[in-house]
Amino acid sequence: MRRRPAGRRPAYERLPTIDRVSPLNADLHCHSLLSDGTLEPEALAARARRNGVQLWALTDHDEVDGQRRAAVAARAQGLDYLSGVEISVTFAGVSVHIVGLGFDAADRRLRDGLAATRSGRDRRAHQIAAALEHEGIGGAYAGALAHAGNPAMISRTHFARFLVDAGVCADTDAVFRRFLVEGKPGYVPHRWAALADAVRWITGAGGVAVVAHPARYRFKPNEEQALFSEFVAHGGRAVEVVTGSHSPAEAVRYAQVAADFGLLASCGSDFHAPGESRIDLGALPALPSRLTPVWSELEHRVQRA
Ligand code: AMP
Ligand code: MN
Ligand code: MN
Ligand code: MN
Repeated sequence: MRRRPAGRRPAYERLPTIDRVSPLNADLHCHSLLSDGTLEPEALAARARRNGVQLWALTDHDEVDGQRRAAVAARAQGLDYLSGVEISVTFAGVSVHIVGLGFDAADRRLRDGLAATRSGRDRRAHQIAAALEHEGIGGAYAGALAHAGNPAMISRTHFARFLVDAGVCADTDAVFRRFLVEGKPGYVPHRWAALADAVRWITGAGGVAVVAHPARYRFKPNEEQALFSEFVAHGGRAVEVVTGSHSPAEAVRYAQVAADFGLLASCGSDFHAPGESRIDLGALPALPSRLTPVWSELEHRVQRA
């Protein structure tokens, strides 16, 4: 495991303390090894408990197969649980992530939609490997697959871990910057689900749809407005304000977006792996107190410990 350089404090220790809405520590965004995390759902539940989380959701990419295990593990740890997923969407040519919370994980249309969304991953993985081959890096498909375990789940994160293992880059962030983001040689454009479909799958299964980490998208202002307008028009209800992907200034900015669009506010670390993720499970500051937290409208969907 790669260690953080001595003296560099993790980003969450530099975040300001925001007065809490309630003492509730909610972490509603993270990944297990069923998608691109490295820990089993049970290990995540134990880590969440150790870090003081009270309400938890596992949100694997385009996959709900870990939900039963996560809910059982949450109960064993004394955590309240909301079902979760993070759906990959293409909007205005940009990859956008929509988190779903509090849905029925057995819902057939949701499961079929997620299966269709996953179906393009293996083909894209072969294309990414071919692009890396062109850069003189061989064996990337097999290397990424060894990390993913399942061809339908191969993500850029698995390629990043392979390239770190191979000694090409020092850490996964460096791999993304050098190879895997738009404009870089290992980037392959891909069409994910439509925004309307992702929101409909979540709401049709009784859940709430949430725009994940909005500051990550490189939209022009009018495109971002269009994203939120269309999201609301399709029945989307919430936005992540406090996330491992946002700076304090970005949290303030999206608190205002939540107010402007009448959206509920969500929060989650987006934890993937020890030593890799900037922010640990349960380590985020609370939501600003003037916002309505997403769980206030999901009381009936919470699986109580
Ligand atoms: P994919 O769904 O295969 O396109 O991969 C997206 C995943 O890659 C995200 O869920 C993150 O875990 C990770 N990711 C995306 N962009 C970055 C970045 N700039 N630095 C580190 N990880 C990233
Ligand atoms: Mn991920
Ligand atoms: Mn995401
Ligand atoms: Mn995520």
